[in-house]
Amino acid sequence: MTADVIVVGGGPVGLLTAGLLDAAGTGVEVFERNREFDRYSKGIHLHPRSLEVLTLLETGDGRRLSDILVAQGMRVPSAHFAALEAKLAYGELDTPFPFGLMVPQWKTREVLAEYLRERGVPVHYGVEITEIGQTEDEVTVRAGAGLHTARYLVGADGARSLVRTAAGIPFPGSDPTMVSFVADVPAAEPVDGLRYFWSDAGYTGVMPLGENGIRVFGAEASDTGLTPGEVRRRQRQPLCGRGSAGRAHPDLRT
Ligand SMILES: Cc1cc2nc3c(=O)[nH]c(=O)nc-3n(C[C@H](O)[C@H](O)[C@H](O)COP(=O)(O)OP(=O)(O)OC[C@H]3O[C@@H](n4cnc5c(N)ncnc54)[C@H](O)[C@@H]3O)c2cc1C
Repeated sequence: MTADVIVVGGGPVGLLTAGLLDAAGTGVEVFERNREFDRYSKGIHLHPRSLEVLTLLETGDGRRLSDILVAQGMRVPSAHFAALEAKLAYGELDTPFPFGLMVPQWKTREVLAEYLRERGVPVHYGVEITEIGQTEDEVTVRAGAGLHTARYLVGADGARSLVRTAAGIPFPGSDPTMVSFVADVPAAEPVDGLRYFWSDAGYTGVMPLGENGIRVFGAEASDTGLTPGEVRRRQRQPLCGRGSAGRAHPDLRT
């Protein structure tokens, strides 16, 4: 047996899971199919509860991962969740972190990866898990050209999880009905907080990314209320200059 637990996926969830297992004295190894971290971020906003969980991990020189990230990010007193118009007011929460933290997901991932490196937890980059089998007592994975066994397997392998499929766990999500855009770009002027704009044409949000960058994201009203087929077609088109193929969604606030 190569470890007590094998974690498939070295995203933030896989790395944090490995960190927590290791801190609890469990032997763990991680397999991540990408050789290197990219600098594109999905998430850029850490919520207070995530920071609370990150207090559980400390580097050798006594720094909590939450504090390392807080030092690298920008605090915002409130934020919208999923572009809903009502704001989450963090200042009213009973937490040591009464704020949202703007910090790109790649930084969170890097801090977690560095923590695991320091602790000697094996993270195998550039190794994809392609097959999974189990008996009563153990689970075996094909990792690149080799086979690895463990008592438990954690699937942290993202939205199209091989582990979830192999375990026969359904994914009863709903079909996509809209197409959004997101762009992380350099900015001539910094922005000091999160700004959202709603109009008949759709919505746009602007967020600070740090290091003179901003994130611009949103959706055109005509890109909402689509069928899954329309979503797939729209995703293959350029963002601008496609004509007006969609229709306005009645739920989009003006
Ligand atoms: C545009 C956008 C904005 C978002 N903003 C926020 C935000 O502001 N705040 C927030 O909290 N969340 C946000 N999210 C959600 C957040 O990004 C996800 O919840 C998070 O990435 C999930 O992390 P994960 O580790 O589970 O999966 P992932 O980040 O998808 O990582 C999975 C990893 O598994 C690896 N992998 C997959 N299959 C295999 C395999 N077979 N073998 C080995 N490795 C494999 C992949 O290469 C990948 O590195 C956002 C998402 C998007 C798309």
